[in-house]
Amino acid sequence: METHSDRPKIAVSACLLGREVRFDGGHTRDRFLTDALALHLDFLPMCPEMEAGFGSPRPSIRQVRATDGSLRVVSQRPEADATDALASAVERRVEGLASEAAVNLCGFVLKKDSPSCGPFRIRVHGADGRLERDGAGLLVHALRARFPHLPIEDEGRLNDAGLRESFLIRVFAWHRWQRMLASGLDRRTLREFHAAHKMLLHAHAPARTRALGRLVARPDARPAEVDADARAYAPAFMEILSRPATRGRHVDTLQHLAGHLGDEMPATERGELHTLIEEYRQGWVTLETPVALLRHHLRRLGTVWANAQLYLDPHPRALALRSVIR
Ligand code: SF4
Repeated sequence: METHSDRPKIAVSACLLGREVRFDGGHTRDRFLTDALALHLDFLPMCPEMEAGFGSPRPSIRQVRATDGSLRVVSQRPEADATDALASAVERRVEGLASEAAVNLCGFVLKKDSPSCGPFRIRVHGADGRLERDGAGLLVHALRARFPHLPIEDEGRLNDAGLRESFLIRVFAWHRWQRMLASGLDRRTLREFHAAHKMLLHAHAPARTRALGRLVARPDARPAEVDADARAYAPAFMEILSRPATRGRHVDTLQHLAGHLGDEMPATERGELHTLIEEYRQGWVTLETPVALLRHHLRRLGTVWANAQLYLDPHPRALALRSVIR
């Protein structure tokens, strides 16, 4: 029987989890992954070079642009073309990820600068000796093609507070989407899903959020069309969340939610909240400061709709992601 873990699962370069699989026989354990994220996510370790049978330790590899323009992976000392073996291992891995066992798969954290795993700015050596710096690992090309909506990051970029939050917003959002599908999709659940995410989406792209709302709220939609609408909804939902949530959009979202506080809220408390939102706009306090006060007031005096907004808690509070975002 199909089961659904309560935790999102991300596939991770095995060396980042402390596995001794690198070319030099070592690892590059990443503490944010193993000490912080491990409390909230399940990991699926993967190492394409080990899966290709290269062993550890092994000669290092690099990407080379052949004279016909194709991308090759070349093992150093002795030089040997390793492209086919690595490509086969990547293909097997991606098929495995797409299988039922990986049903909760919600994203990828990969080793930066690796010619196999690195997602961004990988060195590609030209046949003419020129060096390109805009490549991606073989595994990454395959993951992007097979899982276009899922977020991919490397451990270096996750040191940036904004990129870190953006990645985890998408991981947890995709997990909620999968759980909604697993619980049984119908027009009502799709509308409720969108309603709960409305302010979170608004903080990323307000106009696109309104367009997405029109898709789920079509008055002429027939029940049988809900599967097609969900297929259209999912990529657009994830694309909106991949856009940066600017400080200005956060301010707009906070003010919008503050408008859902009841008239009985004392003017002094309302004033304090708006002062904190303004201080966030100025960059004097972190995003968590006005969000925490808003959460507190909404619990006492807010509408049901506003309290249900996942903008207030899009990822586990214990990660304190917004405590460092200005
Ligand atoms: S970067 Fe990728 S291929 Fe290299 S050791 Fe880590 S998991 Fe293996």
